Amino acid sequence: ATPTALLVGTGRGAQLGILIKGAEVLEQTRRVDTIVLDKTGTVTEGRMTLAATVPARGQDPDEVRRLAAAVESASEHPIAAAIAAGQTGLPPVTNFTNLEGLGVRGEVAGREIVVGRPGLLRERGYDVPAEVEEACAAAEAQGRTAVVAGWDGEARGVLAVADRIRPTSADAIARLKRLGLHPVLLTGDNETVARAVAAEVGIDDVIAGVLPAGKVDAVKQLQARGRVVAMAGDGVNDAAALAQADLGLAMGTGTDVAIEAADLTLVRGDLAAAADAIRLSRRTLAIIK
Ligand code: ADP
Ligand code: MG
Repeated sequence: ATPTALLVGTGRGAQLGILIKGAEVLEQTRRVDTIVLDKTGTVTEGRMTLAATVPARGQDPDEVRRLAAAVESASEHPIAAAIAAGQTGLPPVTNFTNLEGLGVRGEVAGREIVVGRPGLLRERGYDVPAEVEEACAAAEAQGRTAVVAGWDGEARGVLAVADRIRPTSADAIARLKRLGLHPVLLTGDNETVARAVAAEVGIDDVIAGVLPAGKVDAVKQLQARGRVVAMAGDGVNDAAALAQADLGLAMGTGTDVAIEAADLTLVRGDLAAAADAIRLSRRTLAIIK
């Protein structure tokens, strides 16, 4: 009877928009007590838009946007899509490098352009004037991700990027909590933006500003404290953490890399299906017992 019940469980999962990699996954699903949620593209839609371009003193905002867009047009990140959207006839970029979880760099007419977290420019020896820092803080206070563009050793402006929380996230997280799971928001984005999103969806525990490798470490640390961890994510940068987690949940709207690394796929990219999966696993396995 056991295999039959499991098959029924996986079949019911498919009806609910949950693709389960193997019947044994249901057993893992039932055991989880903590759910780590990636922010961008998981709790939020991850379809970002450029809300504002704030040039540094003496800079032309159109030039800041165009040079940033030129370099970002080689990246697949949602931030890159927001910055490059609608820009045509951009200058060619050479020696492009994607600095995973930090930003991008490339050369336009032999001059290096860097676009990314403020810390990335500082680490690369760029001067970041106080007014640029202030523009970043102002954008972040509005829940926007601040990206800095610079060249010739100096930060030239801030691109404020906005994302939307998925309309279903708050309800789904409330359901997960009622099922006894402790939610944790995990993101490479900065703390201020992460806290604003967490507050809106009812999450108290936030781990922000992490590099892609830091996401795996965050999952490992929770496991070391005895937690049985589910991780939900969508990005290339989430794949290792999805594999490390006791249960990996990929958003069906996310990257193939994340889907391959996960045990479960939430087909519609809706976190409500994560709560459905937990309930389903408990019911299916209760029938077996
Ligand atoms: P998340 O964990 O929210 O999916 P990422 O790890 O992909 O975020 O990125 C973390 C941070 O690195 C972003 O918030 C942004 O500041 C910076 N970043 C990453 N990729 C880019 C890019 N292509 N252009 C500019 N900034 C980027
Ligand atoms: Mg993401």
